[in-house]
Amino acid sequence: MGIATQERAFSIVKRAVSFAIDGVNHLFWPAACVNCRETISEMDKNLCGSCWDQLLSCAGGDYCRRCGRDASAYGMLEGNCPDCQGKEVHFDRIARSGVYSQSLQQMILALKNGRTELDSVLGLLANSALEGSGFFSEIELLVPVPLHWSRRLARGYNQSQVLARKLKHPKARISTDLVRVRRTKAQPTMPSPAARARNVAGAFAVRHRHNFTGRRICLVDDIKTTGATLNECAKVLKQAGASKVFALVLAVAGQNSPRLSPWPTKTQTDAVAKKPSPRKKGKK
Ligand SMILES: [Zn+2]
Ligand SMILES: [Zn+2]
Repeated sequence: MGIATQERAFSIVKRAVSFAIDGVNHLFWPAACVNCRETISEMDKNLCGSCWDQLLSCAGGDYCRRCGRDASAYGMLEGNCPDCQGKEVHFDRIARSGVYSQSLQQMILALKNGRTELDSVLGLLANSALEGSGFFSEIELLVPVPLHWSRRLARGYNQSQVLARKLKHPKARISTDLVRVRRTKAQPTMPSPAARARNVAGAFAVRHRHNFTGRRICLVDDIKTTGATLNECAKVLKQAGASKVFALVLAVAGQNSPRLSPWPTKTQTDAVAKKPSPRKKGKK
């Protein structure tokens, strides 16, 4: 038997074994919706039909490419919506997957509360927003908004970095050379946009070995509310020499629409945190 034939035979056997293992796994651990645990088929891309419907109702919609808030194309003036007219915005453009409400809000909260397996679904949404951003081909570096080391240690991971790892891009790589040097209070506890801006002022810095000079960067974060955090990060990156700073977020909160409540109630947070972790599949 020639080497090529041997390799082909080996590959067929390997595929047959892996198919059999998948079948056994599926029998004992049927695929489950990562959100509600309903049994789903392998074709359902991690969520059941009902969860996809709910999630997609929070996704998409026309938005201002400057600040990410809901805005119709007719209400824009020179690329700005009425809300961001005259505001100092340090990032060049923003892309968002949806609005911070209902299902998307719950999944983002769950992602922060240890349910990192939701990165598959949230990653799909983030990739689709990035592809439709209009700045996809310009990006050279993806920079997750950093957590202070103490918060990262407590949580075990940075949810923005988890998200950044799910982004598919032909050339951009992830850089963690933007760091949070000061522990800030949680932004939702700040009483006003001005207080949020003060809370994050001077909280970020770049590492000495950074290579942000002349680069086109895309910041990655889970939520944007007033944009104080993204704005401060973009300012620091531009001071470090970045030529452009874009932003990609899963959801934009704090909109005028009554369907949106920018921050969860205590009951919502508890409900999400109490959901058990899914059973791990035998493979992968
Ligand atoms: Zn479901
Ligand atoms: Zn705007």
